[in-house]
Amino acid sequence: MKYELVAGFETHIELATKTKIFCSCTTAFGGAPNSHCCPVCIGLPGTLPKLNREVVNFGIKAGLATHGEIAEISKMDRKNYCYPDLSKAYQISQLYLPICRNGWIEINDSVNGGKKKVRIHEIHMEEDAGKLVHDEWSDCTLVNYNRCGVPLLEIVSEPDIASADEAVEYVEKLRAILQFCGVSDCKMQEGSLRADVNVSVMEKGSKEFGTRTEMKNINSFKAIHNAVEAEAQRQIELIEDGEKVVQETRRWDDSKGASYSMRSKEDA
Ligand code: ADP
Ligand code: MG
Ligand code: ZN
Repeated sequence: MKYELVAGFETHIELATKTKIFCSCTTAFGGAPNSHCCPVCIGLPGTLPKLNREVVNFGIKAGLATHGEIAEISKMDRKNYCYPDLSKAYQISQLYLPICRNGWIEINDSVNGGKKKVRIHEIHMEEDAGKLVHDEWSDCTLVNYNRCGVPLLEIVSEPDIASADEAVEYVEKLRAILQFCGVSDCKMQEGSLRADVNVSVMEKGSKEFGTRTEMKNINSFKAIHNAVEAEAQRQIELIEDGEKVVQETRRWDDSKGASYSMRSKEDA
């Protein structure tokens, strides 16, 4: 009871467009590996992206439905990214001028009763990466670029969430709003809604946030609840033992009910 929990979400939503964000390849889930690709979405030299108008429409819809301000001028940026799930080695995203800022979603306040707002810092458009398939029977990793260039919205909340129940309700509300607007089917099992949750703890009444950790791609509401609770507990135990929480990305294993360190953030 000595501590307060603080959580914020970065949620990726795959949009319900028929085609990808910068080419006319299909966004259909599944298909034979590397059959939904073209020179644009695998980034061959000399190709040029052409923005899908429907992605902008969905970004605006999602922004208005969450009380956000729609940018009159918005632009895209390259995020260099040296990893085999993205063959062109950069992701086209929005760093400086996102499509929407300053929204909010209302949830029940689990600490003080009544309602509260979880503020949405921004919503930006970006392209998805491909998928690595680790073959556990041999020593190889296969790569499937079908998902490369599938349009995403990334919805970044402020750290306004104070419990596991609030975390679940925030994502449930967000999903309901986006499904209602037809922006996405938000199927967590198929990865069309992927929640990254940041968690920290601080002493009750403190004005300064504690160091946070991030758990990526949590894929069910039950897992969100368990992950937020277990991670806060792990951090409290560290602090009580006189140790420090390190800022890092952790993998949540829902079957084991525990998280494992993946990598520390070199430069957040
Ligand atoms: P970065 O750009 O390094 O990912 P951001 O400031 O964009 O960092 O924050 C990423 C996410 O982490 C946001 O959803 C935000 O609400 C959340 N967050 C930031 N600080 C904290 C904290 N101390 N505790 C919990 N969540 C946090
Ligand atoms: Mg971030
Ligand atoms: Zn393509």
